[in-house]
Amino acid sequence: MEFKSGKKMTNTELIHKATSIIKIKKTKNGLIGDVGCALLSEKNEVYLGVCADIGSNTFCAEQMAIGSMITKGEYKIKKIVAVWKDKDNNSFILSPCGNCRQFMLETDHENLNTEIILDKNKTVLLKELLPYHDWWNRQK
Ligand SMILES: [Zn+2]
Repeated sequence: MEFKSGKKMTNTELIHKATSIIKIKKTKNGLIGDVGCALLSEKNEVYLGVCADIGSNTFCAEQMAIGSMITKGEYKIKKIVAVWKDKDNNSFILSPCGNCRQFMLETDHENLNTEIILDKNKTVLLKELLPYHDWWNRQK
């Protein structure tokens, strides 16, 4: 899912977009849609995704949003946020899991400078969450 957006997309607006697509569905073996993700790409497009934690596989909301971005031929992320809602409708911002951090890095190395939104006034860069991301210290 993706749609046009303005260049002045704030953290609050992205948090709101991620929250707005959460729609929880129980499946036989899992849960779909209890996490929503919104990302702002280099071209100022917003891409959305939800998670699917099901029997055969699990993929994160971030992965779906990034996959949607890649489908449109984009690879660089300016900002990203994921929001989880519990069964009582409380919402929480989630930091990306290790797999999603690596996925962002490998989608484009410049995503080390992606802003990860942790609150409306708090962001960290992907490289702060992945401090030892490069191959290094070649052994002889
Ligand atoms: Zn993840």
